[in-house]
Amino acid sequence: MTLARKITVLLLGYEVIPKTVSTRNRGSRFVMAEPICAYLIETARGFVLFDTGVNVDNIRDPVRCEDYFMSRGWLAPPIVLPEHDFLTQLASIGVSPSDINDVVLSHVHCDHTGNLKHFRHARIWIQRLEHEFAFSDHGSPAVFNDDFDFPDMRWQIVDGDWELMPGIEGIFTRGHMPGHQSLVVTLPKEGVKVLTADAGDLWENFEEEIIPGESCDDEAALVSIRRLKAIARERSAEMILLHDPVRVQTLRLAPEFYS
Ligand SMILES: [Zn+2]
Repeated sequence: MTLARKITVLLLGYEVIPKTVSTRNRGSRFVMAEPICAYLIETARGFVLFDTGVNVDNIRDPVRCEDYFMSRGWLAPPIVLPEHDFLTQLASIGVSPSDINDVVLSHVHCDHTGNLKHFRHARIWIQRLEHEFAFSDHGSPAVFNDDFDFPDMRWQIVDGDWELMPGIEGIFTRGHMPGHQSLVVTLPKEGVKVLTADAGDLWENFEEEIIPGESCDDEAALVSIRRLKAIARERSAEMILLHDPVRVQTLRLAPEFYS
């Protein structure tokens, strides 16, 4: 039994990063333009959003761009073309943020939290360890607290594996971040899809079991990669990667969908 109906993949821009950010100790001379995706899931209980992309205000305003990206050591600010615009893509499929009542956050890096400002009305589902990290004195150049530190934010704290509803499961995939989570969605026709988020940016991370460049717990990061592979194998699932620049070109992107 599943209450999920459709997954729409939203391509929300690209980030320009050294390859070693994605693959530990591999490819330091290579620079990658990696896609930033989010996922709109239509269910029998309304719309669910998994991650929210990057905040374009921090890119378009030159002062903020300097503060948030260049002075923090990023190679370049993310690239968000008009066709990557979050609200425009939602509108093109007849959805407005007010229609979305649940947002699941994989983790609090800025390429996932950028549009949370549109979801003050929604429940924001996050792992306890990630929420604690977000509001600690973390000093991370990739976590932008003003993307999400609103007093009226409706945080829903979860611990470990959990179920949002039948057919939508949160999988605790610690490693890249303390409370990173992935999502497993069962669709009525096309079966199980594993939305990996940043447990592994690239297919290479899964194929060769290479941990992410950034991790708070290397052992857990490898366990998480193996766990998602096992779920995919046991449930004949397709893995949908959030940051892989080659595989993104083979995905059905909005307004197309998986059902
Ligand atoms: Zn990340």
